[in-house]
Amino acid sequence: MPSPATSVLNAPVLDARSRALHDLRISVTDRCNFRCSYCMPKEVFHKDYPYLPHSDLLSFEEITRTAQAFVALGVRKIRLTGGEPLLRKNIEVLIAQLAALRTPEGQALDITLTTNGSLLARKAQSLKDAGLQRVTVSLDGLDDAIFRQMNDVDFPVADVLAGIEAAQAAGLSSIKVNMVVKRGTNEHEIVPMARHFRGTGVTLRFIEYMDVGATNGWRMDEVLPSAQVIERLQAEFPLVALDASAPGETAQRWGYANAQGQHDVGSGEIGVISSVTQAFCGDCNRARLSTEGQLYLCLFASQGYDLRALVRSDLSDEALRQQIAAIWQGRSDRYSELRSLLPTESHATPARKRVEMSYIGG
Ligand code: SAM
Ligand code: SF4
Ligand code: SF4
Repeated sequence: MPSPATSVLNAPVLDARSRALHDLRISVTDRCNFRCSYCMPKEVFHKDYPYLPHSDLLSFEEITRTAQAFVALGVRKIRLTGGEPLLRKNIEVLIAQLAALRTPEGQALDITLTTNGSLLARKAQSLKDAGLQRVTVSLDGLDDAIFRQMNDVDFPVADVLAGIEAAQAAGLSSIKVNMVVKRGTNEHEIVPMARHFRGTGVTLRFIEYMDVGATNGWRMDEVLPSAQVIERLQAEFPLVALDASAPGETAQRWGYANAQGQHDVGSGEIGVISSVTQAFCGDCNRARLSTEGQLYLCLFASQGYDLRALVRSDLSDEALRQQIAAIWQGRSDRYSELRSLLPTESHATPARKRVEMSYIGG
């Protein structure tokens, strides 16, 4: 653990590459009811897999106290993730606690959640009532056979679509749908997914299949570069490039064009997240808190910092903030940029054991 920083607190802290801390992703469970082959392959995450015991998980109070420290250091957006976050019992209680936090200027935070959608139809209203503003739902295609094969637990598309509709009906805004594109698996779903969500107010985002973790058997030839996703969409719907809506945004935005070649706002937009082919480490402002309170500074990190030990010690809030500030100030991670400098054949063979996506959250 680095020595405490001497920075001015309640002010944004910068890392070693001058990147501010802005987003905090909090994994609330390492468990999931899906077995997506790119994330929690069944062969590894089988019924005897040693998930974390409940006592190792940060409690809601511990998460909220830690989040408050991050907010003092510049965090303005919190995303709950997992595993499947809606499997964490009473998640609404945590959402209500986080929704009550305020920035040093007295503003509420932007609170969102990423879910596989399986429990959303049941929970959308209570999540909204607890203070959740937005939601991102993962859905890898509309073809039921392909989707059932990808989630590997035979879960139907219709139930996820019902979850998205329930989220809209509950008044959750800026709903996004994430589709991980795997060449040779669901690439034919790109255009049907765009056709389905165009004009519905839902923003569809295509994510390049990433070499995260060490269990998914990732291969570069299964990545369909975002540039090709855009090419395929352009063949059916003309698109216009849009500006980023926030610094450090992971997705490049494209709007559906009207006959004049301008953005037709009513038809909406799509996004592509090119984590593999176009690294965006330069303005990466995201910190990740694992289910058991380890702080990770990069999705591809192999080691975290044990914040749980700090939160469970008798450290004051101020000292906790100082410790987190010092960790962030020492950060120089830029894995995706470095990956793009490596020869392609070495991409699939991580030199170090990497943390799993289901543990750290997406
Ligand atoms: N269970 C929730 C879900 O699926 O939305 C939240 C956790 S999941 C780890 C978060 C996001 O990471 C999902 O959108 C998922 O599709 C994405 N993801 C998981 N493994 C990935 C991989 N290897 N490459 C790209 N995206 C991945
Ligand atoms: Fe579960 Fe989400 Fe990972 Fe799929 S991507 S296995 S739904 S955590
Ligand atoms: Fe951020 Fe790491 Fe991803 Fe680069 S590789 S964008 S530093 S999480």
